[in-house]
Amino acid sequence: MTDVAAFLDQVSATLASIDAEGLTKRERLIEGAQGAHVTIGGRRMLNLCANNYLGLADDPRLIAAAQAAMQSHGYGMASVRFICGTQDLHRALETRIAGFLGMEDSILFAACFDANGGLFEPLLGEADAIISDSLNHASIIDGVRLCKARRYRFANNDMADLEVQLRRARAEGARFIMVATDGVFSMDGTLADLGEITRLAAHYGALTMVDDCHATGFIGPQGRGTPAAAGVKVDILTGTLGKALGGALGGYIAGPQGVIDLLRQRARPYLFSNALPPAVVGAALAALDIVERADDLRARLVEHATYWRAGLTRLGFTLLEGRHPIVPVMIGEAPLAQAFARALDARGVMVSAFFFPVVPRGLARIRTQMNAALTRQDLDFALEAFAAAGKEVGVVQ
Ligand SMILES: *Cc1c(COP(=O)(O)O)cnc(C)c1O
Repeated sequence: MTDVAAFLDQVSATLASIDAEGLTKRERLIEGAQGAHVTIGGRRMLNLCANNYLGLADDPRLIAAAQAAMQSHGYGMASVRFICGTQDLHRALETRIAGFLGMEDSILFAACFDANGGLFEPLLGEADAIISDSLNHASIIDGVRLCKARRYRFANNDMADLEVQLRRARAEGARFIMVATDGVFSMDGTLADLGEITRLAAHYGALTMVDDCHATGFIGPQGRGTPAAAGVKVDILTGTLGKALGGALGGYIAGPQGVIDLLRQRARPYLFSNALPPAVVGAALAALDIVERADDLRARLVEHATYWRAGLTRLGFTLLEGRHPIVPVMIGEAPLAQAFARALDARGVMVSAFFFPVVPRGLARIRTQMNAALTRQDLDFALEAFAAAGKEVGVVQ
């Protein structure tokens, strides 16, 4: 056998073992726009698994803004930012994001995955320490791996353990310490304890970095995120344009001017990857206009989450406690979670089963997500489907 044939055999064996464990992810083909309702295989489905929190993904105002920006600024940039890929629109959006978040400046990336991937390495070195929450997003984990700073980890949202790690890092001689956390842990829908994190960070002279992908636009006053919700300031915020802020793509880092200036010089995903296209940037500016005045949408989101949690609890489902529009329905084993998702699909409700390696083995779940484009009628329809599908596969009595 050639090396290539042996290699491809090995790849097939890995795929077969993933499948044998019931861990294969299959993608559904949506015909048309993302939204509260989508069409799949000619069937209209209620969609409970998008990060489309404010329902802006198919908003006509964003589509019009994208079209206008494309007319005035073209389709693509064909350049990284520093060569010839920066338009007035890019700087307008960076300034606007910084203003919205109460930061000095911000810097755009192709995705928040890239923002987190490029953040740490230019800012911290061998003499420094990063203390990272154990449930942080994969992109933070990868970004930390790419950085030479010493690595410390604390148990998820465990403030006693964070203090232990801060003491350790100090005792081991760290020059600068950065505490890194998701603002919202996306598999559980829980909020980081930013009040205590910022208190401890101040006490031990550490910097704070928060990834607010699942918060910006809809958590806290005017949707300014988890620090605003907790009434605290953090040093560095990262976020995405791919969730509540329209759902297209793009990420950013916001923080002190010097930090942003240094990242513009040194962050590798910024230096070596294309500038965001004008349509996305123009629509993101329009999204921020909407988001700043969207108290009605945010109130509806809270109402939906409360109603949805109460309904599922009444039906006997096991939920993770919380108040975020992420509402995880705990199932246990991956195959049962997949069977439940299929039974819901047959009833016109689209959900996603999450299982290893995205969550620990044995903690498979259906992560449902509320959004402001759903109606009360949609939720009642979904509750009926959950009751019937849950009985069919034996998740509830
Ligand atoms: C979605 C998400 C990301 C990645 O954002 P993209 O812009 O899609 O790359 C990073 N961090 C967290 C916490 C997320 O939820």
